[in-house]
Amino acid sequence: MPELPEVETIRIGLQRLIIGLTISNVKIKNQKSFIVDKISLTNFLVDKKVINIKRRAKILMIDLESKYSLVFHLKMTGQLVFVNQKTRFAAGHPNDSLINKLPDKSTRVIFTFSNGARLYFNDQRKFGWIKLLPTNILNDENFFSHHGPEPLTISFNENELKKQLMNHPNRQIKAVLLDQSSIAGLGNIYVDESLWLAELHPQSLVKSLKNEDFARLYNSIRIVLNKSIKLGGSTDKNYVNAEGQKGSYLQFANVFRKNGQPCPRCGSVILKQKISGRGTHFCPNCQKVKK
Ligand SMILES: [Zn+2]
Repeated sequence: MPELPEVETIRIGLQRLIIGLTISNVKIKNQKSFIVDKISLTNFLVDKKVINIKRRAKILMIDLESKYSLVFHLKMTGQLVFVNQKTRFAAGHPNDSLINKLPDKSTRVIFTFSNGARLYFNDQRKFGWIKLLPTNILNDENFFSHHGPEPLTISFNENELKKQLMNHPNRQIKAVLLDQSSIAGLGNIYVDESLWLAELHPQSLVKSLKNEDFARLYNSIRIVLNKSIKLGGSTDKNYVNAEGQKGSYLQFANVFRKNGQPCPRCGSVILKQKISGRGTHFCPNCQKVKK
């Protein structure tokens, strides 16, 4: 599932490609992927210029000069692929549509720009969505009030992390990190990787963590997310290079999907267990449950 680093990769990539371009046509191949009325489409989207691209948690927003924004949630299998004569930029769920000739059978919406470039929204499982909303609604803090703080902002520090987590002292650390109202944008991969780096067992209760544990966890989350963004998420180029099938965002992983392999830190065998309802990867030796 595309998580914060993949969505940030898309934002960075599209920023240099589509700002200043004008949308000339929108083709919706699957109505549920983009529910929009014809009047809004004509008045606020078609013939409008892209002026900015933003991200909050796992949500991508493309601001238009009409003061409306295209809002994307990729969910399980969403991806965005930009194609013009010279460039192809693709990121999101790693499957063959990142490199296929498009449209293909997973293509749900096609945006065409006035210079002929296209942006394809592909989504195999169809859980993802696009909305057209007034930009000022998105700028209102209440719109994202159910999301916790962004882990990569300057204002997010150790104390803020501790404060957010200590709202749930009796819950397991993994569950609270996955909870979008505690911290925005972390999913299963990055939570497992961060807990491994911080040497914390995913089932440790929040109240058992000491200040130095919160500090290590804070640093680990930042390191893991930044490293993944630096690797470029699962762009088409990386995708092709990465063993043909996998997409690059798992290249950096130390524990995720490494069950049965040795822990890179201590050599013990990495386990996979269902914790907080999710398949969880950890080292039973370096990550002990705190009492
Ligand atoms: Zn270990």
